[in-house]
Amino acid sequence: MFNNKEAFKLLFQENLVSKLGKPLKEAQKADIYTILSSMIREYVGKNWADTNQNFQFHQKKQVYYFSMEFLIGRLLGNNLLNLGVLECVREGLKELGWDLEELEEEESDAGLGNGGLGRLAACFLDSLASLKYAGHGCGIRYRYGLFEQKIVEGNQVELPDYWLQKGNEWEVRRADKKVEVRFWGNVEIHEEDEELVFETHNYEAVTAMPYDVPVIGYGGEHVNTLRIWSAESTMDHTEMSGPNNYYKFIHYNRSVESISDFLYPDDSQYEGKLLRLKQQYFLCSAGLQSILGTFERLGLTIDHLPEKVAIHINDTHPTLVIPELMRILIDVKGLGWAEAWDITSRTVSYTNHTTLSEALEKWPISMVKELLPRIYMIIEEINKQFCGMLMKKYPEHPEIIPQMSIIDGEQLKMANLAIVGSYSVNGVAALHTDILKKREMKLFYDLYPTRFNNKTNGITHRRWLMHANPALADLISNTIGTRWMNEPQEMVGLLKYSEDIGLQDRTRAIKQHNKMKLASYIHEKQGIIVDPYSIFDVHVKRLHGYKRQLMNILHIMYLYIQMKQNSTIERIPRTFIFGAKAAPSYSFAKRIIKLINVVANQVNRDREVNQKMKVIFLENYSVSLAEKIIPASDVSEQISTASKEASGTGNMKFMMNGALTLGTMDGANVEMHEMIGDDNMFLFGLQSAQVLDYYQHGGYVVKDVYHKDARVREVMDQLVTPGYFGINELEFGDIFNSIMSTNDEYFVLKDFASYVDAHLQIDLSYRNSKEWQRKSILNIGHSGKFSSDCTISKYASEIWGLKGNQAKLQAKL
Ligand SMILES: *Cc1c(COP(=O)(O)O)cnc(C)c1O
Repeated sequence: MFNNKEAFKLLFQENLVSKLGKPLKEAQKADIYTILSSMIREYVGKNWADTNQNFQFHQKKQVYYFSMEFLIGRLLGNNLLNLGVLECVREGLKELGWDLEELEEEESDAGLGNGGLGRLAACFLDSLASLKYAGHGCGIRYRYGLFEQKIVEGNQVELPDYWLQKGNEWEVRRADKKVEVRFWGNVEIHEEDEELVFETHNYEAVTAMPYDVPVIGYGGEHVNTLRIWSAESTMDHTEMSGPNNYYKFIHYNRSVESISDFLYPDDSQYEGKLLRLKQQYFLCSAGLQSILGTFERLGLTIDHLPEKVAIHINDTHPTLVIPELMRILIDVKGLGWAEAWDITSRTVSYTNHTTLSEALEKWPISMVKELLPRIYMIIEEINKQFCGMLMKKYPEHPEIIPQMSIIDGEQLKMANLAIVGSYSVNGVAALHTDILKKREMKLFYDLYPTRFNNKTNGITHRRWLMHANPALADLISNTIGTRWMNEPQEMVGLLKYSEDIGLQDRTRAIKQHNKMKLASYIHEKQGIIVDPYSIFDVHVKRLHGYKRQLMNILHIMYLYIQMKQNSTIERIPRTFIFGAKAAPSYSFAKRIIKLINVVANQVNRDREVNQKMKVIFLENYSVSLAEKIIPASDVSEQISTASKEASGTGNMKFMMNGALTLGTMDGANVEMHEMIGDDNMFLFGLQSAQVLDYYQHGGYVVKDVYHKDARVREVMDQLVTPGYFGINELEFGDIFNSIMSTNDEYFVLKDFASYVDAHLQIDLSYRNSKEWQRKSILNIGHSGKFSSDCTISKYASEIWGLKGNQAKLQAKL
């Protein structure tokens, strides 16, 4: 009904009348968006049901990807693309007087994540469905997603992101699938038939209400499910009538619903919030109950669970699936400990995302014990057995035990529990996995060498290329055919055309068009005119010390002084573009946002230089903004302190859209370098081994760099010199002091000189436009290996033991 423009138009107008009671000529943009998305949701209904039937019928092994974050962004455009009806709908709407791209802007981003980790989960869902695997998302339906960022007088201001305000056409509330999650209470133990029985009393019950979102695979036939849970009160109002009870009821309702109110806007620092722990258990318990419900309908005994179900945890946030599954197997299904442990530890697998120590999750024992008394008992027992095993294995090394123990004094170490309770632990890039094995998790690696493996992150080429940059996608298809859409590694076919002048001209023209579009967006949002022929040099990602936005802005300050001092300097005009949210509690990160905006303000107003450079901070960096920025970028700043960025995925999106990377040998940049070599990216800075060595053995003194390198000193001194940048006296003394007092913990000054050089190389390189385009094409051609389709087929075969329909793809990898 959609693959025909006329039929679409007719159906669309019928829907408008039947659902909104409006004829076309009275419909507003919001009406058109609502009707269109609801039609598509209904349209996939049949394939969704069929997919599920098919799973059931063939008893297919199911993967459940548990994640506290799914940063999915908008769905309309991607769903149309994957359904294969994009063109027919676009044309049909046009004839009805509406522009699809404008309608897409009506949709609120589903910002149910902070950054890379949540976006990875979203890319994985797209690949799972497109490769026709039985793989589903399990998450929380936060009423408020990641905050909306406004910049007011250069400062970040956070506004609540009430993304559901206009309704959500994509989800289906599944009241028939609701479950109950229990908190608090006390555990009573008694004996029945010589077995200990554990019962929790006086608990607080919360209803977990699932909302299902269809995840449409490319081609539209295969439809998986993202199930997101919302917390609701278990009591109905009749149970709580009476004068005092009424207020109790209101109070209780509020406290219960608050569990799924907010996404924690912090992806790397430990938030010691009871509510966060409640969220984690809520997700784990609700998700598991629903999985076991589906499993039971297969009619198999519970010992078959690991054959039919794989549970994957995205970082340690959902680690409580391990003790929760133990609880259900023992207390509800009546299994013995050993059998329950065998089943659990063959069902769960875990991805580690970071080696930043402040991001390793720890919970106070007292909190876990009180909120989840039975779960705590189980964790204690897991730990007892684990430590007992260690004592036997390493009788000569008792010092190992406190390092590996799951419970350490007053703290529960989630990563240790996740490793002990799962059968696979993976890092997210080769370098990261190597650091895990050799350093951060060495003791665990020595104990379980086969458990550790690498799965380099990936991105879906459907959203990040076909949807975000359709002109480039068409150009690729015109050059090498369309097979790459299903088999993205086929993009290497482009390599042999890298010298082709015609292809170079066309990629240049597409980039130029995208830059013009971004320039008008910038003009519309900020009233600033940027030169669309300047180099668009882009640094977009969460704001964090290790991502070194500070180094970028210090370099811009350096360039600015240089230009002021010597107006004859020949430089290709540059537009520096930033986008970044800072966690509201991370005050240093917010100061860097302020510094960027202060510098931008000065540079952009200065007529002596503003033809040569501009600095733009785009507010509210999000998936939909990334889709506008990345296709328009020439230079991709991936400049983290080596060893700190586990993988990065932003780097891959830029590469796929033909930007050249300015980066350190960190995360997946290392693998990018392996593919394209020194000549096709701009590398600089310390190697990860050097950084780790400095951390371990010292040997770097920031004051030495400050005293020796006049450029560094000049820039640093500007931070505390009145006059420059209209900066009040000492206004950025805090940033100056922070670098000095931490001995430059992120090596910003140490890497500064080589960063300056790399920027010069970019300037020189860009002058040779043919060479630049050649490099750009090589980057695009190699980027197919970073498609999450490749990543997911490796997860499927090497971790989850899935038999996919992708034997062909497998053979090629
Ligand atoms: C890809 C993406 C990220 C991750 O970017 P990195 O550069 O890997 O940190 C963060 N936020 C959004 C909106 C993204 O699309």
